[in-house]
Amino acid sequence: MIEIRGLQKFFGTHHVLKGVDASVAKGEVVCIIGPSGSGKSTILRCINGLESYSGGTIDIDGVHVDHQAPSIKQIRTEVAMVFQRFNLFPHRSVLENIIEGPVFVKGEPRAGAIDHAKELLASVGLAEKIDARPSQLSGGQQQRVAIARALAMNPKAILFDEPTSALDPELVGDVLDVMRKLAETGMTMVVVTHEMQFAREVADRVLFIDGGVVAEQGPSAELLGNPQHPRTQDFLRRVL
Ligand code: ADP
Ligand code: MG
Repeated sequence: MIEIRGLQKFFGTHHVLKGVDASVAKGEVVCIIGPSGSGKSTILRCINGLESYSGGTIDIDGVHVDHQAPSIKQIRTEVAMVFQRFNLFPHRSVLENIIEGPVFVKGEPRAGAIDHAKELLASVGLAEKIDARPSQLSGGQQQRVAIARALAMNPKAILFDEPTSALDPELVGDVLDVMRKLAETGMTMVVVTHEMQFAREVADRVLFIDGGVVAEQGPSAELLGNPQHPRTQDFLRRVL
């Protein structure tokens, strides 16, 4: 579904991505790990067109991701993103946050969007928070609302950028549980994470990014249990 070939990205003269090759099949869960500053967020942002790229190609279901082409709007509605810092609209209720995309971006009827939002809120365990403001919720609850908001667009795939890194430790589990359930439904997911236990249990494959390239990749149990590349070994020794 997602095909990345030779992806290059410069920020000014800073060469951040130096030829990233990766693919994600429909229904697959791929975790991306690697040191801070190695380009993980940039890869996600290039995939859904939040960031332009300097070379290589990205295709989603055969459609070329081109930052400047009209098709980019469609791609952004089809490939949802969940950020480290939830990015909910602070002055709107949980319900309004969730229906905003379907109603104003996709033009869905409000009544149907509300019904769908209620289902999604129930599925992330927050049915009773429908009228709350984001500030009345814990970080973990806000992140579950952000996941419901992403799902409200009926995306083909969801990209998660360190979705639990900003959370207090006791709130991480509920968010990971929601993501685990989502993976079981067959959702295509790309997850940048430092949660190695989650990667081991949920990911089909893990990519280790280092120095702007995919330094190593493989089935999660193999890459995390028996890494081959010295840089992967070193990274895992430090995070595990
Ligand atoms: P990671 O998510 O792996 O921590 P990022 O993709 O955020 O890494 O960043 C990779 C590199 O690109 C870092 O050196 C970072 O400082 C740089 N970078 C990221 N975004 C920008 C930007 N908008 N402008 C300039 N440099 C950036
Ligand atoms: Mg990042």
